[in-house]
Amino acid sequence: MLEFRQVHKAYATPQGPLAVLTAVDLELRPGESLALMGESGSGKSTLLHLAAGLDLPDSGEVLVDGRSISTLDEPARARLRRDTLGLVFQQFHLVPSLSVLDNLRLQARLAGCERPEWSTHLIERLGLAGMERRYPEQLSGGQQQRLAIGRALAPRPALLLADEPTGNLDETTAGEVLSLLLDLVREAGSAMLMVTHSAQVAAPLDRCLHLTHGRLGSPSGQAVSHR
Ligand code: ADP
Ligand code: MG
Repeated sequence: MLEFRQVHKAYATPQGPLAVLTAVDLELRPGESLALMGESGSGKSTLLHLAAGLDLPDSGEVLVDGRSISTLDEPARARLRRDTLGLVFQQFHLVPSLSVLDNLRLQARLAGCERPEWSTHLIERLGLAGMERRYPEQLSGGQQQRLAIGRALAPRPALLLADEPTGNLDETTAGEVLSLLLDLVREAGSAMLMVTHSAQVAAPLDRCLHLTHGRLGSPSGQAVSHR
């Protein structure tokens, strides 16, 4: 589903190149959920951006659904994102001028794969039934993030990429949103790569990897555990 082969990524800074990912290998199978942990500044968001084809590696390969993103031009990468990926960020990135229902449908419409029954099911599971005509600003933070999750999952993407999806929520709300996210990812049959700095958030996922000094390893430094 997602594969990194010896991926290197550095940023140009006034102090010279900053190597963020030095040799990242990663394999995520269909339907598998993986937590990506690491200290602030360790390169988690950089890795996620590469997985989404929003940026390209300096060397090595990133394969999404068997296709190397470096070999695709930007329109083809955009199509791959649209047809294969769902994205959820710490900021909700809802469209303020669209209703709850139109926000939910947005991604699936762009991908040309709207499933009205699944959308209705999502609205109910997300606790947004009866709020379809509201606008994002009329929702609480937890409701807004649930809507952002629903929008990402409406096309039933093969892979959901989530960057600290509960990072902007209070602890109680974060717990609720997380368990809902895990349930819906399972229902959608999506694989998931989720960035988090909370071991508690990472615990229910199939696997957990730590990003340290530009490389991925298991939390204890031992062989990577599988379910
Ligand atoms: P994390 O998500 O783990 O906090 P990031 O991937 O956002 O880490 O950033 C990793 C490192 O790369 C940090 O030191 C950050 O300051 C730096 N960085 C991120 N994006 C850029 C950029 N566009 N240009 C220069 N440096 C960047
Ligand atoms: Mg980050």
